[in-house]
Amino acid sequence: MSQKFNCHGCGHCCLMLIDAYNGCVSDDDLLRWKQQGRDDILAWVETLDLGPGNQLHTAWVNPETGEDVERCPWLLDMLNGNGYLCGIEPIKPDHCRAYPEHQKHAEATNCQGYNKTYAAPVETPKEGQHDE
Ligand code: SF4
Ligand code: SF4
Repeated sequence: MSQKFNCHGCGHCCLMLIDAYNGCVSDDDLLRWKQQGRDDILAWVETLDLGPGNQLHTAWVNPETGEDVERCPWLLDMLNGNGYLCGIEPIKPDHCRAYPEHQKHAEATNCQGYNKTYAAPVETPKEGQHDE
């Protein structure tokens, strides 16, 4: 029987899973941000035109340098090293919203959200380390 999911705010997914901070965002994400006038978010998305009706929206791309980021620009450190928060939680990308897809996905990517006894340490990303 699968256990109940409870996010500990450890930041592991946002910091360590490259698909979280260097993934594609959806047409629905773009529409949501446009409707809410979030040009600040849209500025970090690069759209690649792959042909008629075929576009790829990649995030997050630094609007000043044009480089893929190494840390999500919306990830906030909680005071006293007590974990992390998403600065755009209510309107975050669909792929962030969907993570983890199920318990096995969580366990395979080192998310402890299904582990009731887990006490979240604060993680420090290591250069070049990616779990997905
Ligand atoms: S890895 Fe799991 S427990 Fe940690 S912040 Fe992400 S969803 Fe929450
Ligand atoms: S948008 Fe929010 S949930 Fe997604 S990687 Fe950034 S901080 Fe994490």
